Amino acid sequence: IDNALVRAVHRIMTHADGKRRLAVRTNADTGADAARARRFGAEGIGLCRTEHMFLGDRRELVERLILARTDDEREASLAALLPLQREDFIEIFREMDGLPVTVRLIDPPLHEFLPPLEQLAVNVAVAQERGEDVAKEEALLAAVRRMHEENPMLGLRGVRLGLVIPGLFAMQVRAIAEAAVAVAGSGGSACPEIMVPLVGAVQELETVRAEAEKIIAEVVGDSGVEVLIGTMIEVPRAALTAGQIAEAAQFFSFGTNDLTQMGWGFSRDDVEGAFFWRYLELGIFGISPFESIDRDGVGRLVRIAAEEGRAARPGLKLGVCGEHGGDPDSVHFFHEVGLDYVSCSPFRVPVARLEAGRAVVDTDGSDSR
Ligand code: PEP
Ligand code: MG
Repeated sequence: IDNALVRAVHRIMTHADGKRRLAVRTNADTGADAARARRFGAEGIGLCRTEHMFLGDRRELVERLILARTDDEREASLAALLPLQREDFIEIFREMDGLPVTVRLIDPPLHEFLPPLEQLAVNVAVAQERGEDVAKEEALLAAVRRMHEENPMLGLRGVRLGLVIPGLFAMQVRAIAEAAVAVAGSGGSACPEIMVPLVGAVQELETVRAEAEKIIAEVVGDSGVEVLIGTMIEVPRAALTAGQIAEAAQFFSFGTNDLTQMGWGFSRDDVEGAFFWRYLELGIFGISPFESIDRDGVGRLVRIAAEEGRAARPGLKLGVCGEHGGDPDSVHFFHEVGLDYVSCSPFRVPVARLEAGRAVVDTDGSDSR
């Protein structure tokens, strides 16, 4: 590209950065993504989705953990996962070099980690045919059947997993704290923010937080590392009880993907191919509410939660990490609501920086556009 053009873009970005009030973070789950996002100007990680770290080779360990029949089995899986997770976080903290990193505790729909029911049923039938002993296969089939959900996106996900699988969140909290201490101990710095997903009631957060605080205090000692604990606001009930939830949270991050799904009752997996076209035709929205924030409905939930959260805890740090964090119109909305930062995928970081600057100009009515 022409050098003059590069200089012009650089000048525009510098101008926008000088104006904007919103910080811009990125959603990243690996050191490579974090490095890419920093080149685009990301000022932290607003969402590190840890469930992605449990796929591939580690899927089997998680499956064993979920289906464990004894404490020993469960603890063996957790013990194997802890050092792997610690390394994951060390890599990310090193890359971000003291910038804030929001690590979300695991939030997969459970079916992603369970063997498919049909396959297990076939295995049992085949083994029976052959006259083999099928007791083990049948026990596994029964266990998976017990956990089967018709609607996994509204099921055993997020904080609910942490509440029913002993040691799961504790392992992750320990890995995060140990990684931060290791980075700090080798001359670097790390600012972890632990985020609890899918919270709908303050009691869920208080339960996770009480356990997490004990582990953090034990691991961090006098290393000087500070670990914040906060929550996603992505369930409508959380938005409507934000005043209570803020009592137990050091920050909120709006998960507008789930908040849109649950606010409208639209499935984010299907994006409603069967009827969305009619909504567009009727002008109910001009663009999918999963892309651009629905100011009147979902946006109002964000506003209520921001206001009530800050009323209960003045200065509460507020961000957004749903896809809307990189959408131009939505960035303007988040600026108006007074959030502290938006977080989006690495490639959308420059757009978010630019729009966050333009939002100031729009709101203040300045003519320097
Ligand atoms: C969200 O729901 O907006 C969010 C960021 O979490 P996820 O997309 O991982 O559910
Ligand atoms: Mg979510």
